[in-house]
Amino acid sequence: MHGNLAALFEPRHFDELGKAVVSLLVADMGRVQDPAFAPVMPPGSPAALCERFPAEFSPTGEGEIVGLLRTAIEQSTRLHAPRFLGHQVATPLPAAALCDLVSSFLNNGMAVFEMGPASSAMERAVLSWLAQKAGLPSRSGGILTSGGSLGNLTALLAARQSHAGFDVWRRGLARGPALCVFVAETAHYSVARAARIIGLGDDGVIGVAVDEKLKMRTDALVEAIADARKRKRTPLAVVASAGSTAGGAFDPIHEVADICEKENLWLHVDGAHGASLLLSEKHQGKLTGIERADSIVWDMHKMMMMPALCTAVLFKDAKKGAAAFAQEAGYLFATSGDDDDAWSDIGKRTLECTKRMMSLAPYISLRAFGTDLFRVHVDKCCDLATSLAAKARARRLEVMTEPECNIVCFRPRGMPSGSVAGIRKKIVDDGRFYIVQVRRPDGIWLRCTLSHPLTTDADLDAIIDAVVSSVEDMRRVPPRAAPGPKS
Ligand SMILES: *Cc1c(COP(=O)(O)O)cnc(C)c1O
Repeated sequence: MHGNLAALFEPRHFDELGKAVVSLLVADMGRVQDPAFAPVMPPGSPAALCERFPAEFSPTGEGEIVGLLRTAIEQSTRLHAPRFLGHQVATPLPAAALCDLVSSFLNNGMAVFEMGPASSAMERAVLSWLAQKAGLPSRSGGILTSGGSLGNLTALLAARQSHAGFDVWRRGLARGPALCVFVAETAHYSVARAARIIGLGDDGVIGVAVDEKLKMRTDALVEAIADARKRKRTPLAVVASAGSTAGGAFDPIHEVADICEKENLWLHVDGAHGASLLLSEKHQGKLTGIERADSIVWDMHKMMMMPALCTAVLFKDAKKGAAAFAQEAGYLFATSGDDDDAWSDIGKRTLECTKRMMSLAPYISLRAFGTDLFRVHVDKCCDLATSLAAKARARRLEVMTEPECNIVCFRPRGMPSGSVAGIRKKIVDDGRFYIVQVRRPDGIWLRCTLSHPLTTDADLDAIIDAVVSSVEDMRRVPPRAAPGPKS
């Protein structure tokens, strides 16, 4: 049948293949939900995986895709395992993954309304719901884009165009004073990277010290701004994290907003991870002041169970957001010139031209399952984190800070960083859990993110047991004798 392209476009072929592929996923889902399942992360090295997936493509092909997909599944990290406690990427709602299949099939590119009528309207609806959750005014607007990193870049571009004091887009950076932005030392690396991409250089990213809870120190921010002005730099923006990547700490947005107002600076809130706490009555207080932000990044593929990538960039003033890419492309945008405010040709306001129909999964999930589902999920993830921290303390492990969202960092007391990394390796090699580590100025910490809806208290006990018994094993092994002189 292969070799016959027309056959691959036959509805019946797609039906059979589709059912077989869904069955594969269903079988794997059942397997990985078993607490005894291992390995959550496949053990293969990069070189071994390259051997597994050789660059061998014959003219006629192997004719069979189910086997190839099965191998791909087996060699992938299983976010559907309740003991996946690693990075912040969501365990996606299976129904949302199916929305993504429809999106891939339809392939409406979305740069212009005519290439994505349904998804453009859904994007507008999702954005307006998120903006309302953040308390932004009716003149607000935004876009969906491919990830928080691109979102931070988009927001900083808008900040630059709004606050540089000259038209950087048209005239270029060289025609004006040196610009800078302020970010807490704990901010995600994509913020510093975005600042460099927009041409600010090393000196254009000014790190602000954090307090013992890893939150931006506003006294240090005020000092840093005064110091930059003294050095004839033009401050553009302050980036507050909600929450930060390493420890999940929320910067004091209200106080930072006061400073931004007084100093006439753009306030960007990087809520890639934690903006979803706005959905929770219990936790939304951590984001008080976000309604004063000029821009907000919100990843729905972190705490909202959406398949990656699904990121919102919200602007308090839609017009200032549009200025991030103040560019004409007459061949593409039918509305150029006569209606600059048209929201519907989304490509005007994104770095991307063609993009995935990323509004389908959140819009349909919100409509079909209701908003409570997401509120309950956020609360549950945060509760699990609180519980994990308590269990760690009860077993005499050191907890970095009381968790504010679903991220918990802990480690054995008084253990050198190399050994903490050794513990993580032991646990990941054992295979029943996937956890990560994070390096801070005070050394390496084990880090867990709780985002699987089926993770239980028993799973938390089991990971703490695994850590404690690895520590005991490690302490039992006699230290290696110092190498003596060779006889
Ligand atoms: C995850 C994260 C990012 C990066 O987002 P991607 O979607 O992975 O590009 C940026 N900032 C924070 C605070 C994050 O947690």
